[in-house]
Amino acid sequence: MLYDNIMVPYDGSPSARAALEEAAKFAREDPGMVLHIVQIIDVEARMAKILDSKPSTAGQLSSARLKQLHEQAVEEADAALHRQIDTILSSLLNKVVIEFLEEASPGAQIVAYAEGNGCDLIVMGSRGLGALRGMLGSVSNYVLREADIPVMVVKVAD
Ligand code: ATP
Ligand code: MG
Repeated sequence: MLYDNIMVPYDGSPSARAALEEAAKFAREDPGMVLHIVQIIDVEARMAKILDSKPSTAGQLSSARLKQLHEQAVEEADAALHRQIDTILSSLLNKVVIEFLEEASPGAQIVAYAEGNGCDLIVMGSRGLGALRGMLGSVSNYVLREADIPVMVVKVAD
């Protein structure tokens, strides 16, 4: 096997999607390879958004309500991710691990996940959802600098 565990950090951006399509090529060649798709999400911001969309929930939230909001935020992220990537995944026989990590610094979490899960290649996009122009975003720049394993950076034509 060329690679046993490929990690694709996926933020929903066009270049992350291009990275996933590239990783899927490796996966198709080798059904024994495990594909790890990891999305770092800002759960608190998502919880606040759910609350904003509901009429006045004044006062402090109970811990049960917070837990429920947390679950809902992750479930919504999961549903959105599946809507975006299921057509790519449906053509694969490989084991696919989908993981949501909570936002602190995406770059550090990507590197830690890869190390902690025995990944031997990271395939990621050159840019993400950020609005800045330029060749590389801050997350791909960080991962290229800090990861001890090979990193493949995929860009989309602009
Ligand atoms: P910046 O965030 O610095 O404004 P950007 O959004 O254009 O710039 P990056 O964030 O570096 O660029 O994104 C590059 C790649 O990093 C993405 O294509 C994706 O593979 C990965 N990535 C970025 N953010 C996340 C995230 N929250 N979860 C998973 N992967 C991410
Ligand atoms: Mg970004």
